[in-house]
Amino acid sequence: MTKKPSALKSLLQLKCPNCRKGNMFNSPSIFPLGKMLDMPVRCTECELKFELEKGFWFGTGYISYGISVGLIIMLAVIFAFTYGFDFNDNSIFIFLAIAIAFMVLMQPILMRFSRAIYLRIFVKYGQGQPEK
Ligand SMILES: [Zn+2]
Repeated sequence: MTKKPSALKSLLQLKCPNCRKGNMFNSPSIFPLGKMLDMPVRCTECELKFELEKGFWFGTGYISYGISVGLIIMLAVIFAFTYGFDFNDNSIFIFLAIAIAFMVLMQPILMRFSRAIYLRIFVKYGQGQPEK
């Protein structure tokens, strides 16, 4: 029996949720950005069809929104303890600039992870193609 790959590690490596071996994306890097969301139609290891139904990836918007809100809150807490919020200076605008820059930089990574997390909600390890 082969050892079951770690759930968290395979998620961070953007592996297929079914076999945790095949890559979900064609390129391991987010560059070039235009090809960052290019995925094979089926997993190269277990042949799971990644896009479970037409427009399946639309739902990833909710995942990335949730993660974004979490990240902004985390960033706000860090900012509050390091720089500090003060209504008498520009600290709120500084924070907004940092938060926007951070979210723009994080977006490609966030979009990939959202897909990996979203697919994992529907496909459990070793489950195979969900019935449609
Ligand atoms: Zn697979």
